[in-house]
Amino acid sequence: MSECKASVKMDSFGTNDNVNWEIIFKVSVTHVKYSTGSFEFDVMIVRDDGTTQKLRRREDWLANNQPNVEVKHYIQLNRDESIEEAKIDEKTIKCTSRELEELEKLKKPELKLGEKVPNISEVKAVGAIKSKIERGTPEFKSLVKNNNHDIVFKDEEGTGADRMMTVKLKNKLNILAKKVKAEFPGKKLRVTEAWDENNEHRPKSIHYEGRAADITVSDKDKKKLGRLGQLAMDAGIDWVYYEDSSHIHVSVKK
Ligand SMILES: [Zn+2]
Repeated sequence: MSECKASVKMDSFGTNDNVNWEIIFKVSVTHVKYSTGSFEFDVMIVRDDGTTQKLRRREDWLANNQPNVEVKHYIQLNRDESIEEAKIDEKTIKCTSRELEELEKLKKPELKLGEKVPNISEVKAVGAIKSKIERGTPEFKSLVKNNNHDIVFKDEEGTGADRMMTVKLKNKLNILAKKVKAEFPGKKLRVTEAWDENNEHRPKSIHYEGRAADITVSDKDKKKLGRLGQLAMDAGIDWVYYEDSSHIHVSVKK
């Protein structure tokens, strides 16, 4: 589970009868807009895994009061309402309890290293292989090529084998590719192995039937794997396994 980069102090500084918490997290203010008596800005929450989420905040700006944001470098606000971009790194922000709820929502579930979903053997989840599929056989004709531009194929064999898979796996990976793109802007789903014709896996591996894939995010960032595993589950993949620190293994039923 990825925590918000936050340390919560329990001293309340309530206004009215609401109890509010002071929460410290890494934020950068990316956009500042001045309007009479108050200003709005976007707060970037930076999570441990490097992903970010924008929150809109509105603060009262009174001549004799500090705003609710402690800044190391004060934001430049021009009276003529022109905007000066300000980028601030480590700040203290006092969150209202409603904002804390929003922060809670920002916590996104992740798989842990070694976790299997569902937590049963792969054979139980997706069924054993009948036999290894060889190129040029009638069984090979049942495999399809995945040419999705939103997926990066490692293809270290140079044979295109990593693109070969069952229709079901192709459909599921395509759903996952969309989720990865939405979750990690500018990044793609990366497939390092799918169908295997070179006996690189253990005997009876589901890879030999084109029903399994090994995946990462295109930037190969290991910190994204836990979240990738969760997205694979969300995509409806039948069995998801955070196999080691360098990849997620997924497989589907026949
Ligand atoms: Zn695998």
